Amino acid sequence: MYRIVLSFLLLMVFMTPQAGIAATLKGNVSSTVDNVASVPKAELANVRWLVHKDAVEGTSKLRLVIDTTGPVKINGTLSENDGPQLTIDVKDAVVGKVDDSVSLDGEIADKVTFIKKDATNSQVVVNLSNMIDDSDYKIFTLPSDISSNKTFRVVIDINKPLPKKIYNFTPGLKDKVIAIDAGHGGSDSGAVGPNKTQEKRITLAVAQNVKTLLERAGAKVLMTRQTDVDVYGPNASAVDELQARTKVANDNKADVFVSIHINAFTNPLAGGTATYYYQKTGYDAMLAKNIQDNLAKIDGFQDRGINSARFYVIKRTEMPAVLAELGFISNPNEEKMLNLPQVQQQMGQSIVRGLENFFAQAARKGGGS
Ligand SMILES: [Zn+2]
Repeated sequence: MYRIVLSFLLLMVFMTPQAGIAATLKGNVSSTVDNVASVPKAELANVRWLVHKDAVEGTSKLRLVIDTTGPVKINGTLSENDGPQLTIDVKDAVVGKVDDSVSLDGEIADKVTFIKKDATNSQVVVNLSNMIDDSDYKIFTLPSDISSNKTFRVVIDINKPLPKKIYNFTPGLKDKVIAIDAGHGGSDSGAVGPNKTQEKRITLAVAQNVKTLLERAGAKVLMTRQTDVDVYGPNASAVDELQARTKVANDNKADVFVSIHINAFTNPLAGGTATYYYQKTGYDAMLAKNIQDNLAKIDGFQDRGINSARFYVIKRTEMPAVLAELGFISNPNEEKMLNLPQVQQQMGQSIVRGLENFFAQAARKGGGS
């Protein structure tokens, strides 16, 4: 059950009943002239907000309701370029009587601003207090409802992000719980090289080398797969399959997660190793850097460095995580090298050295989020 308690410091602005009726009429008219692109169909007329607090769970949610004088289409995106922001593109609506900018609770979001995008479209920008995840917000539209005097509405729900976990890493690999994810497997071969090498076979071979080396150093290794299988089950949806991999790490509270893949590109000359991270803890980029610095030492593979990416497995794992792309299977030279057991061994050693370097650096950094 969801207990709702109104926050005491809230400003509530209510729409007038007249506006609701006018909006309904306008909405009905506009739906018959759907092809007239240059005429804005609706206006952003009013905004109100409140915070729902769940006293039991300790969670809270900010709800923003924007009244519009007709139906609109919306699309939301998160960005961090100018501070954490949720931007909602509102198609077929101009900024109407609504205030240019309204202050919000300050804990989940600081303010909402209404911006004219062009003659027929507008934008709603919510400045967030902290960056959130795609799963932390929901946006939807509601139709008008004459019986309750309600006009068309855009609803934005933003959950307060959970507090960041505090990490206290110690140096060394002994007793560390390390999740190793051999990319693809079973019904999913991954990328295939010009000489028919399947990505899933190389990723498993390297993952097994990593496992052996880590266990020799006293670490506990969680493998998402140890044979040529689908982790969730044959022909599962992509999300089920990826979720099954993150679950192995999350359920067992792994210290770190390493996903192993091989890249592919249309240009057969593209090559090199790269490591991807999603900075959800203070340690993801550090983990990527330490692993990539060691991969970069392998002869014959160009160093493509580290990059931020929103891949599912590195985003949805709760611990620092990386996805390493160990060369390009589409590059005939690299495909050949990746098939050599000594190169697979070097790849495994580099990942293990990277993990060792990471724990040393993270321990020096000390406790923190
Ligand atoms: Zn892959």
